[in-house]
Amino acid sequence: MEKKIAVIKGDGIGPEIVTEAVKALDAAAEKFGHKFEYTQLLMGGCSIDVNGVPLTEETIAACKASDAVLMGSIGGDTTTSPWYKLPADKRPEAGLLGIRKALGLFANLRPCLLYPQLSEACPLKKEIADKGFDMLIMRELTGGLYFGQRKTETVDGLETAVDTLIYNENEIRRIAIKAFEVARKRRCSVISVDKANVLDSSRLWRKIVNEVSADYPDVELKHMLVDNAAMQLVRDPAQFDVMVTENMFGDILSDEASMITGSIGMLPSASLNETKFGLYEPSGGSAPDIAGQNKANPIAAILSAAMLLRYSFDMTEEADAVENAVRQTLDEGYRTGDIMSEGCTLVSCSEMGTLIAQRV
Ligand code: NAD
Repeated sequence: MEKKIAVIKGDGIGPEIVTEAVKALDAAAEKFGHKFEYTQLLMGGCSIDVNGVPLTEETIAACKASDAVLMGSIGGDTTTSPWYKLPADKRPEAGLLGIRKALGLFANLRPCLLYPQLSEACPLKKEIADKGFDMLIMRELTGGLYFGQRKTETVDGLETAVDTLIYNENEIRRIAIKAFEVARKRRCSVISVDKANVLDSSRLWRKIVNEVSADYPDVELKHMLVDNAAMQLVRDPAQFDVMVTENMFGDILSDEASMITGSIGMLPSASLNETKFGLYEPSGGSAPDIAGQNKANPIAAILSAAMLLRYSFDMTEEADAVENAVRQTLDEGYRTGDIMSEGCTLVSCSEMGTLIAQRV
């Protein structure tokens, strides 16, 4: 198969980790007889330096002309970098919001997996960590409280602020469909998280999710209230396969779920639109404190590339090969500094990437 991949290396550790992700993609292409064509694009701080803005129309057009986007991370040190002296809409992060909007990316997928080899990094009790967990949080990304009308005004002499949590049935239906489709690629279980005992938006959410579930009789559906979900994540994370939820609940719960895996350098993410198109990036930031030192953990970027193969290209075997290569490399005791433990072999970012690519 021939595929076009837009590559945004970005800032900080972005170029280092994306280089290693491309090594894994090339290894998969060679093994399975595919041809991947890469287009290098600027976004974030590096685009500000060259173009004066974090995101250009050319970058958007080139992404749209590709089959998927692989991204590193954007942004710099927010206290020292000159990028943060610019107005908010000219800063690196504005590029990220801009590209998500321009590409219509409404579903954010964050797998949270505890590798048995790294279970010591899990902050939960040993008996919970030993069971392991492998879940995927799907967060609605373009609606809800963060996009509803807001205002601050004086009412009866008191300063008063209002935010609006708004969803229509189409916005809910399209993310519910994504959740059931993704569950079919995993263990066929969806837990939908809402606050239907209080919020109208949640009652509509639950109604539409139930309607969509009728088209997926092979996928088990349960509903859970958000306060309970926050507790269950630390009590028994192994019960979750796909968790689907609205924007703000997903923002909070996905950070909680990341935390219990113990290592930000291991967590990939994907943002999808209604088609197979998606943008794939590590969950972490640009880590300016270790940028340019060949120390970063490239695994989140490599696993993001595996998600790209799985969700945008429907290349299940190829994605499995990359994910298994990561497991094998960890099994053999290789570690970057952030996940290093006694008795293991410390390797650099590029060495880790090469070891994984060799095992694809
Ligand atoms: P960060 O995730 O960049 O770093 C937090 C800590 O985790 C640092 O100590 C860092 O060294 C470490 N870390 C992160 N990724 C790592 C990896 N792959 N390997 C080893 N260690 C790793 O978060 P931050 O310091 O809050 O933010 C730094 C910059 O990144 C800011 O400009 C922020 O706006 C930006 N940011 C970008 C994205 C994105 O591109 N999607 C996301 C979050 C933050």
